[in-house]
Amino acid sequence: MSFADRLAFVRERVVAACARAGRDPATVTIVAVSKTQPIDAVTEAVAAGVDAIGENRVQEAAAKRPLVGGATPWHLIGPLQRNKAKTALDLFDLIETVDRPELADRLEALLGGSDRVLPVFLEVNIGGEAQKSGLNREASPALVERLLKRCPHLCLRGLMTVPPYDPDPQRSRPHFEALRRLARELETRFALSPLQLSMGMTEDFEVAVEEGATEVRLGRVLFGERRPGP
Ligand SMILES: *Cc1c(COP(=O)(O)O)cnc(C)c1O
Repeated sequence: MSFADRLAFVRERVVAACARAGRDPATVTIVAVSKTQPIDAVTEAVAAGVDAIGENRVQEAAAKRPLVGGATPWHLIGPLQRNKAKTALDLFDLIETVDRPELADRLEALLGGSDRVLPVFLEVNIGGEAQKSGLNREASPALVERLLKRCPHLCLRGLMTVPPYDPDPQRSRPHFEALRRLARELETRFALSPLQLSMGMTEDFEVAVEEGATEVRLGRVLFGERRPGP
């Protein structure tokens, strides 16, 4: 099956999930997560018209993006260290993993003086798992406030989460629901326009769409299994 065939199949599944939830499928974007996949696979994804490319490591994106070309936006979906922030700004159109004030401040400082405004998502550790990246739900209002007050070069577009791993997608549902509720709370509290929700991966994207995902991040269902590392 070609990438385009797989993408068409995924889109059908998104449309069906939207129908079950009474949603408009045009409100769901598909990010093709190309980590470990070779350049030609990423090029094929871009040619097939996927909405965005997602990579979780800055170094890997640095090796790939210049060779892929095209106008498709790239999203950073993995943890970002402060010392890689500058490189990340050169490679990504959107950063989904802002999860602490130091990182927001670093990005703001790097962008200060330019007229670029970077769209960002806050990554929320919605299951409250120890040793997982993302900020705790309770800490999110303070970070939103900081972005709004002190980071004019960052534009808060949405929330992102990776729920606790569970082979049964139905068990991810309460976490997706919790992220949606958090978004609505933040919108009300800070008078924001609707936040996007980046949630759902290969195993659970249909449940995520039923619960309001506006962006699903899909790796294996689009590219096949991940390639072994070098
Ligand atoms: C790898 C990854 C994905 C995609 O995972 P699949 O299960 O292959 O769809 C989505 N989000 C993040 C943050 C990832 O690291």
